[in-house]
Amino acid sequence: MDYSYDPENIFAKILRGEIPNYTVFENDHALAFRDIQPQAKVHVLVIPKGPYVSLDHFARDASAQEQVGFMKALAAVCESEGVDAGFRAIANTRAHGVQDVPHFHLHIIGGQQLGVMLPR
Ligand code: 5GP
Repeated sequence: MDYSYDPENIFAKILRGEIPNYTVFENDHALAFRDIQPQAKVHVLVIPKGPYVSLDHFARDASAQEQVGFMKALAAVCESEGVDAGFRAIANTRAHGVQDVPHFHLHIIGGQQLGVMLPR
């Protein structure tokens, strides 16, 4: 796999503070912010601060500290967004997964009843 990272992608610019974002949580290893085009009442993107292009890249190469930091950010978002009734976590990946931004991000979608995961 080619996991080469484009430092000009939009989330890299957000991490550098070049583009504004609505931050909901941040720690040493991850940033969580509201999606600019929300698909539900709650739609937050959780991203690692390191240069990882996808979930599989992050799982392979991120340190244990980065992975724990990311998961702790996810937990903080779930708590602060009040998605007790449930939510969906989505990591669109590369072409088949219809990934638009080439910096790993987890969509946290909820706050309302969702439909089936994939059209049948
Ligand atoms: P993907 O298709 O890569 O999984 O999703 C990328 C997501 O990033 C989309 O849901 C899109 O609305 C969101 N997005 C794209 N550009 C920006 C931006 O500049 N700011 C924020 N907050 N979200 C963005």
